[in-house]
Amino acid sequence: MYVLFLGPPGCGKGTQAQHLAETNSFYQLSTGNLLRAEIEAKTELGQKMETLYASGKLVDGDLVLKMVQKVVASEGAKSILFDGFPRTVNQATAFGSFLQSIDKKFDCVFSFSLADSEILDRISGRMTCADCKAVYHTKTNPPKTEDVCDKCEGKLVKRTDDSRESVKLRLEEYHRETEPLKEFYKKENVVFEIDASQSIEAVSKQISNEIEAISKYKGNKEKTSGTYSRR
Ligand code: ADP
Ligand code: ZN
Repeated sequence: MYVLFLGPPGCGKGTQAQHLAETNSFYQLSTGNLLRAEIEAKTELGQKMETLYASGKLVDGDLVLKMVQKVVASEGAKSILFDGFPRTVNQATAFGSFLQSIDKKFDCVFSFSLADSEILDRISGRMTCADCKAVYHTKTNPPKTEDVCDKCEGKLVKRTDDSRESVKLRLEEYHRETEPLKEFYKKENVVFEIDASQSIEAVSKQISNEIEAISKYKGNKEKTSGTYSRR
């Protein structure tokens, strides 16, 4: 099963992705983490991206697309959760053709909504484990011991790109480039709306219920080959 988390920065995608990876054995495909891994492993792709980095340019969409395709091809039939990709309608179109060529599609796109004012609060309290990347919040999701990761006892740090100014810029970019993807996927009838202002537990319950419903449907489809309409 292929699932996409779509939503503004700070709405809780990473938190839910981690949970889903732990409970439903989804492979968590985060393009940010992948990028660093390619560069560290000095693959051909990694070296190309490092050169772009060094020259101060952003890694371009084509390279990210290639990187994601490589992982999808090697992960084969596994359930994958896409977090942070596609980010633009162009990427979604190109990636859609690739998925079609391997006879796959997104089974569900979870579309997270949260007001910009709440996003700023969430990001200003966000702490991340330097070792295992687990996400916490000083108020809404604090670790048991201050500044120490519950899972691996690593040190909790603030992301350097989480300043108010940087978040405002990323939000603008999100509204302009990524939000139109909601309409794009609505046409494919795979969007499930998430009110991200709910508690972490309430959101994760909704997600796992929906995934269970889709699994059941996919199981039945193998027997009946019916068409699935979400609503
Ligand atoms: P994203 O991956 O979408 O950028 P994160 O998962 O990093 O978002 O969450 C942003 C911040 O909000 C983190 O500090 C996280 O602990 C906190 N958070 C996530 N989900 C919720 C929620 N439902 N209620 C309150 N705080 C949350
Ligand atoms: Zn940790």
